[in-house]
Amino acid sequence: MAGNRTLTIIKPDAFNSGKAGLIVALLEKAGFRIVASRVMQLTEKQAGAFYAVHRERPFFTPLVRFMTSGKCMPMVLERADAVASLRKTIGATDPAEAEAGTVRKLYAESKERNAIHASDSDRMRSGRRGSSSLNPSSSKSRNCKDDYRRAALGGPAGGRGLELHHDRP
Ligand code: ATP
Ligand code: MG
Repeated sequence: MAGNRTLTIIKPDAFNSGKAGLIVALLEKAGFRIVASRVMQLTEKQAGAFYAVHRERPFFTPLVRFMTSGKCMPMVLERADAVASLRKTIGATDPAEAEAGTVRKLYAESKERNAIHASDSDRMRSGRRGSSSLNPSSSKSRNCKDDYRRAALGGPAGGRGLELHHDRP
């Protein structure tokens, strides 16, 4: 059965231009509930590891530069059939090809600066953790051939965070 939690990230273009609230409203209207959320700026190492699956692609370096250019907003979302539903709600990678009403059609600037990330993977484990960083540097992350996402969404200082881990079986 398809899972009911997934990870999304409001990317720096949308966060910096004040679109986070509009995007959250659209996600909630699409039936998603926010389980955890935080605002953070990714380091080069974090963004590079997060998008490691694209390391050989020509857009990798500009993508890492973009993802580290400002604050972003990772969120854990909950809904039935979360991964597929979120992919549908955010639309195609290139906003020019995205369906009307999708997040990217409404708020993305370009194929690179496209407002939001969503996982491709339906496999996720979550657990509590005190770390306050998105931490994709495990050996499993480096070894994974396919889509892999690992994020530790820390809570407030001293509080409990939520760890996410995405990959394909
Ligand atoms: P994401 O993984 O961020 O949810 P996606 O799954 O729709 O996006 P991917 O193919 O995984 O698309 O690409 C990851 C990100 O890399 C894209 O969201 C976009 O920001 C950037 N990207 C992808 N293809 C290109 C391209 N041809 N030129 C520039 N940037 C690109
Ligand atoms: Mg992707």
